[in-house]
Amino acid sequence: MDKLIYTGKAKQMWQTADPNVLKVVYTNQATALNGKKKDQIREKGELNNQISTLVFDYLIANGIPTHFIKKLNDTEELVKKCQMIRLEFVTRNVCAGHFASRFGMEEGRVFDQPVEELFYKSDELGDPFLNNSGAQGLGFATADDLQACWHLSERVNTLLTILFRRAGMQLVDFKLEFGKLPDGHIVLADEFSPDNCRLWDLKTRQHMDKDVFRRNLGDLTVTYEEVLHRLQKALGKEN
Ligand code: ADP
Ligand code: UDP
Repeated sequence: MDKLIYTGKAKQMWQTADPNVLKVVYTNQATALNGKKKDQIREKGELNNQISTLVFDYLIANGIPTHFIKKLNDTEELVKKCQMIRLEFVTRNVCAGHFASRFGMEEGRVFDQPVEELFYKSDELGDPFLNNSGAQGLGFATADDLQACWHLSERVNTLLTILFRRAGMQLVDFKLEFGKLPDGHIVLADEFSPDNCRLWDLKTRQHMDKDVFRRNLGDLTVTYEEVLHRLQKALGKEN
């Protein structure tokens, strides 16, 4: 019998009979402002499960090591259980969100090169910023771990920038999480969906990600459906 081991802001993690395998259940909960804004969004769980499955399949096909095993049904998938590195690896191609407010900059400025930022994953502390030396000094990751994670982040950025462009969207920024398998190998974990990236329509500049919820810009379900359909088309996987 599967056993619930963690309930997060958007997913539940279940231990399966295999000690090395977790079942992920995508829920309809959306949160913003570090959990202060919270709502149930129709079909969000299954949309993110479908989008993340397409993205992970594409990354795996392009040589990225990940935790992903397979999608089970509408809202569930199986993943390799990892010892998570409690850091959020954020890559920004275009100025937006907190970076824009922190630096008093207009959203939309394209950076001369991708900006990489690291945050300590802690809801209680509001995910504070730290740099590579902070992460090493506090024992969250070794220099080798960080190098491996940033190298993977850069490859993911290149691959997904191409994929989303093909789907008519600009990959503005995104957050990745990494974990270690029992053999010590680092893999891309968690999810990749419009919950943890920013996507702007290439023509209209319209927001096609969780900013629609954060900023009350419209119907999040309709937005995520559009992201899914465009990705399916770009990947030749239309139903
Ligand atoms: P949060 O914890 O930020 O509220 P979620 O609701 O998405 O986020 O919960 C998923 C949790 O599972 C996250 O804490 C994430 O770090 C963790 N996780 C993701 N992939 C794996 C994995 N392969 N093994 C173990 N834990 C994972
Ligand atoms: N992000 C995330 N989880 C977090 C913080 C940020 O997935 O806890 C993602 C967010 O969706 C965006 C990118 O990381 O794609 C950069 O987010 P930012 O620091 O601008 O914060 P935000 O404005 O999203 O709160």
